[in-house]
Amino acid sequence: MTILIKNISLKNRIVDILIEGNIFKEIGDNINIKADKIIDGTNKAIIQPFYNMHTHSAMTLLRGYGDDMRLFQWLSEYIWPQEAKLTSEDIYNGTRLAILEMIRSGTVFFLDMYWYHKEIIRAAQDMKIRANIGISFIEERGKKEVEESIEFINQFEQSSELINISVAPHAIYTVGKDLYQELHKISKAKNLKFHTHLSETLKEVKDCKKANNGLTPVEFLNSIGVLDNNTIAAHCVHLTEKDAEILGSKGVTIVHNPCSNMKLASGFFNVPLIHKYDCRVCLGTDGVSSNNNLSMMEEMKFAALLAKVAYNDTSLLSANEIFAWATKYGAEAMNINSGKIKEGKLADCLIVDLNNERLIPNHNLISNWVYSADSRCIETVICNGDILMENRVIPNEDEIISKAKHFIR
Ligand SMILES: [Zn+2]
Repeated sequence: MTILIKNISLKNRIVDILIEGNIFKEIGDNINIKADKIIDGTNKAIIQPFYNMHTHSAMTLLRGYGDDMRLFQWLSEYIWPQEAKLTSEDIYNGTRLAILEMIRSGTVFFLDMYWYHKEIIRAAQDMKIRANIGISFIEERGKKEVEESIEFINQFEQSSELINISVAPHAIYTVGKDLYQELHKISKAKNLKFHTHLSETLKEVKDCKKANNGLTPVEFLNSIGVLDNNTIAAHCVHLTEKDAEILGSKGVTIVHNPCSNMKLASGFFNVPLIHKYDCRVCLGTDGVSSNNNLSMMEEMKFAALLAKVAYNDTSLLSANEIFAWATKYGAEAMNINSGKIKEGKLADCLIVDLNNERLIPNHNLISNWVYSADSRCIETVICNGDILMENRVIPNEDEIISKAKHFIR
């Protein structure tokens, strides 16, 4: 399939863009070839889409369920008991609802962590989005489940370039040292990402220090040899200088989830510290139950505002920097050859309506994008050369909504 986008604004220059198969084949003036589809880009801009680097997609079904609590009470009294009642069909329907929301708000990739991975993979495949499905581990769920999940990872063969899996021990308070090390070894052997929650709350830090001779969660995971440039650590809210130095020097990818951190009152992400140690940072929404949506646009704005107010520094986290965290750094961390609108890159992009009131006047599109825009500005979403949303229409939208709506327990 070839798509020719005519007269579109790319970084303030009007160009034509040819997508051939799944790549940006040519970007230039006056491309005149016979394409399968032609999109008129007049009064529109083309922009990189979002790569949501930490979420629990099926938790959309728990949107609005159990607000206004701290993490441990919220997990143990509300979330885990409800999750125990979810069926595989619920997971499929909840994940499709999540993907619908992600596509509409401009996300073309999500890094997930949840159970019922087969249903999540099926939902992602059906909706043609990029996804990396974390095969999750919590030891309390029983030895049988741990063994089955390891078996699934060992047997997994990638059948689509869009979908891969990662090894995802939930956190240091749900997975012990031996299993962490075993899973890390498996992730190395299978060349898969290693995805975990880390240093999310003060309680986690306090309990870890008590149980491990004063080691912080980062020091503890480092001491057991599971932190490297393949590791993706969600949250990292409570870091010492030494923690940040370890994460920076080991090349760990940190995923900042500002809305979840604020809603659960987990704390302030230390932007000056991660800058000081040159840590790689991306952006994620976390699950809907602690957000309560999957909008990476809101996440960018909250991240920037939170950093400025927390450290009394208006220059901290510029629009350009937070946009990079939300887009190309995520693609880079996942080794996906995308995240830039450039010839030879995989064709992931958004077509944005420059006539939307939120983008007017257009002094600086990235500033508007971070601080002003909402998902109504996004008209069309292209992922890997496939149109996932065209003029705000997503296939099967009514059916997806109806199935998720009727989830009642
Ligand atoms: Zn999470």
